[in-house]
Amino acid sequence: MFKTAVRAARPAAQAARGSVKPSGSSLRAFSTSLRVQSGPPPPQLYGTGGKAGAVPTDIEQATGLERLQLLGELEGIKIFDDSPLDASRIGTKADPILVPSFDTERLVGCSGFPADSHDVAWFNLEKDKIGRCVECGSVYALDFQGEEVHGDHHH
Ligand SMILES: [Zn+2]
Repeated sequence: MFKTAVRAARPAAQAARGSVKPSGSSLRAFSTSLRVQSGPPPPQLYGTGGKAGAVPTDIEQATGLERLQLLGELEGIKIFDDSPLDASRIGTKADPILVPSFDTERLVGCSGFPADSHDVAWFNLEKDKIGRCVECGSVYALDFQGEEVHGDHHH
């Protein structure tokens, strides 16, 4: 269940990545505007906030996905696998860039070669299929390292 929640949260996390981290004061203004907006509110995770007279730590003021990631790190769980992929070359159909994964699909972000030569393009990579970056055409393949799930398969 946790895994499902994390997977659902990924695109939002990636959208949020790169946004400026709010300071303590703008964070309060942000939470006020959330209360008046229409529609269902996004999932919220709030810390205790900074102590008076002290600079708040990340764990005290981080919210939402950032907080989820921090809490995960405290427990030794990496919520978002953001380890860089092989960016030393452009992947080709014959020799795709391998993306290690314990899941049968994984979201991949490509920034081209050399790295950051185009805006990060995200696409979903599935086991036994190749994925191609729409920006630079680099080809990726899932290097599945999890356990195969055989349904009612009899030998
Ligand atoms: Zn690319």
